Amino acid sequence: MTAMIEMKNVQKLFGPHHVLKDINLSAERGKVLVIIGPSGSGKSTLLRCMNLLEMPTEGSLTVGDIRMEFHDGNKPKRDQVLTLRRQTGMVFQSYNLFPHMTVLANVMEAQVIVLKRSIEEARKRATELLRKVGLADKANAYPSQLSGGQQQRVGIARAMAVDPKVLLFDEPTSALDPELVGEVLKVIQELAAEGMTMVIVTHEMKFASQVADKVIMVDEGCIIAEGTPEEIIQNPAHERVRSFLSRIT
Ligand code: ADP
Ligand code: MG
Repeated sequence: MTAMIEMKNVQKLFGPHHVLKDINLSAERGKVLVIIGPSGSGKSTLLRCMNLLEMPTEGSLTVGDIRMEFHDGNKPKRDQVLTLRRQTGMVFQSYNLFPHMTVLANVMEAQVIVLKRSIEEARKRATELLRKVGLADKANAYPSQLSGGQQQRVGIARAMAVDPKVLLFDEPTSALDPELVGEVLKVIQELAAEGMTMVIVTHEMKFASQVADKVIMVDEGCIIAEGTPEEIIQNPAHERVRSFLSRIT
C-alpha cells in the first residue's frame, strides 16, 4: 500500500500546551482513515496539521509527493505550503460556505481563483459535482435557503471541485439535526466506494464501522489505538477505547 498522507514523529505545541505528542500515521491511497477520540483530544489539530492550516512544531509530513520537515521556529515557504494544501480538500463542521454567493458560485470559486479555470469550465465541473451530491436543482439558491444537510453537501462538492488527492472531514455531521445526518453520510460513503482517499473525524460510530478501512483513536494528543473497525470499534481491546465508546454510544 502506498501512503497518500504520512506523519512521522509529529509534535504540536500551542505555546506551552503540548497538543499532539509524537504522532505517527499514514492514510493510504484510495482508503478511508477514521479518527475518533474525546473532545479536546487533538483530533481537529491533527487534521489541520495534514493540510497545514496548523503548522506542526516538529516532525515530518508527506502529502502525495510533497514532503516537509518541521523544526521549532522554521517557517516553511509559502508556495510550498500552498502546493501541499492544494492536494487536499477540507470539509468543516460548520460548512463555511460563502453566504453572499449562490451554491453554484461557491463550488466555482476556488476553481477560478486557485486553479485559474475558465468560467465555463468551472461551471461545468460545479454542475457535475452538484448533480453528484444530489443538489443540481439548488445551483442558484443561496446557502441560507438550504437545510444544514444540503449546505454540507455543497461543502463536499466545493471541497471536491479542486480535484484534491485527499478529502479531510472534521466532524462533518455534528452540527446537523439528526434527521439530516444520513444524507451527508451517504454522499461520503459514495465517494469512498469510488476510491476517494479520505480522512474523517467523526463521532458516528456506525458510519465509521461501515466506511473505515482503518480507525485511529486519539486521547490526550496521543494515538492510543489503531486497527480495523472490527478491532477498534466492534471488539475494542484497549480499556480507554472501551470507556470512550461506552460514553458516546
Ligand atoms: P478536538 O478536535 O479533539 O476536540 P482540538 O484539536 O480542537 O481537539 O484541541 C486540542 C487541544 O488544543 C485543546 O486543548 C484546545 O484547547 C487546544 N487548541 C486547539 N487549537 C488551539 C489554538 N489555535 N490555540 C491554542 N490552543 C488550541
Ligand atoms: Mg475538533
